[in-house]
Amino acid sequence: MWPDTPDHFVSGIKPAAEVDCERALYFAFEGEAMLSRSQAPPAALSYDDVRWLDRRESIYLGELDGRACFAVEVKCDGVPGFATCSLRALLGQVEQQVFYLAGRAFQLIEWARNHRFCGACGTETHQHEDDRARVCPNCGHIAYPRLSPSMIVLVWRGDEILLARNAAWPSGFFSTLAGFVEPGESLEQTVHREVKEEVGLKVTNLEYKGSQSWPFPNALMLGFHAEYESGEIVCQDEEIAEAHWYKWDSLPSIPPGWAISRWLIDEFVHRINGVRH
Ligand SMILES: [Zn+2]
Repeated sequence: MWPDTPDHFVSGIKPAAEVDCERALYFAFEGEAMLSRSQAPPAALSYDDVRWLDRRESIYLGELDGRACFAVEVKCDGVPGFATCSLRALLGQVEQQVFYLAGRAFQLIEWARNHRFCGACGTETHQHEDDRARVCPNCGHIAYPRLSPSMIVLVWRGDEILLARNAAWPSGFFSTLAGFVEPGESLEQTVHREVKEEVGLKVTNLEYKGSQSWPFPNALMLGFHAEYESGEIVCQDEEIAEAHWYKWDSLPSIPPGWAISRWLIDEFVHRINGVRH
């Protein structure tokens, strides 16, 4: 079900006091992989771990339980004692809070790397004093970290839900419908458009349920329930391989517990069960 938010993390642009390096946590990335100590589960590194590594970029993230957190881009080149783990592989292996902090670190490193120079005039940028932004000293252009809002929707009809298999997924694996918000659209318009495009149905009674950061690479998933209104299932060519109605108690293989699509499905199942008992 929906994870408990907020946690013990307090976001910040710069440390409020002198950083106690010995207690600080370093989310270190080399390319798309997070570094951790080998022989241990994936986790943030200590100052002792990173002090010898070739560090390219270091970004303050905030404090977790009073410990300063940093995102660092490193060049490890196979230094012994370290292992790498892709962000996606962290899912289900580490606590959710660690995954989201790692996702935050990865996105900010990538953003800083891609905005080293002003997109308008080409001058080297520097970090904004007060905001999570990079600013151009020549023309004043400000670049903020990029987020791509995306909606994900569980369509229901009585005690059934609609699940679809994306054409790129293996057979037998089903999930809810999802799609990116287009410029100029409201989230609700995206839900109506994507459901119509992907399976040819009209929906009504949209209910916003919650969200999940999805750093692959910059998505923010906004989850809805929507009630079926009319139409027959017509799958979008090359996008949706198959889509069917499933009764709540006979679902196919669905996403694991760390995914928002699963939270949307579980919430529906609990609601039906609440009605039944
Ligand atoms: Zn500029």
